[in-house]
Amino acid sequence: MNILFMGPPGAGKGTQAAVIVKEFGIPHISTGDAFRLAIKQGTPIGLQAKSYMDQGLLVPDDVTIGIVEERLQQPDCQQGFLLDGFPRTLSQAEALEGILARHNTSLHHVINLNVDRSLLMARLTGRRICTVCGASYHLIFNPPAQPGICDLDGGALYQRPDDNEESVGKRLDEYDNKTAPLLHFYENKGLLRQVNGEDEIESVSAEIVSLLRG
Ligand SMILES: [Zn+2]
Repeated sequence: MNILFMGPPGAGKGTQAAVIVKEFGIPHISTGDAFRLAIKQGTPIGLQAKSYMDQGLLVPDDVTIGIVEERLQQPDCQQGFLLDGFPRTLSQAEALEGILARHNTSLHHVINLNVDRSLLMARLTGRRICTVCGASYHLIFNPPAQPGICDLDGGALYQRPDDNEESVGKRLDEYDNKTAPLLHFYENKGLLRQVNGEDEIESVSAEIVSLLRG
């Protein structure tokens, strides 16, 4: 089964992907991992990617697509895969169609995790880090025993600049702008499955499993 996971930052994609790959015995393919593998194996496209990264340059789309294609050809993907974090744009989605068609397969399900923006904001801005030991807390999901103080060493907790409302808002806007056309693309293909990502982790997993088995 070939599955694509979509959803904004903070929707719980990583958590759900871990459950689903275990349930279906397929590999979890993220672009980050695919890059690391290609570079470690020293494949031609991996070396190409590395040369851009070493120069601090953005890796061009065709190289990213090549990395994904190489990863999807590995033996562990023969029974299917769960793709996460790619495609991010319409042109990448079209490239993915081409890759899968060349290997006589296609996507079977596109799961979109829906979470209201205010909840995403609460999830993403709730992280607090200890100034002393770097331990990570969350105001909602993993609060310290005493507000603002590390359980381990009494250090003061702070919020990273990336986690403030303005930065998080920008990330969410960027996701919305880039991926709205993608959702439409997969909806037109009849592949899009909407899942309510606001429920408890176990309920969301159960809903996804039942959609995939259905
Ligand atoms: Zn600490």
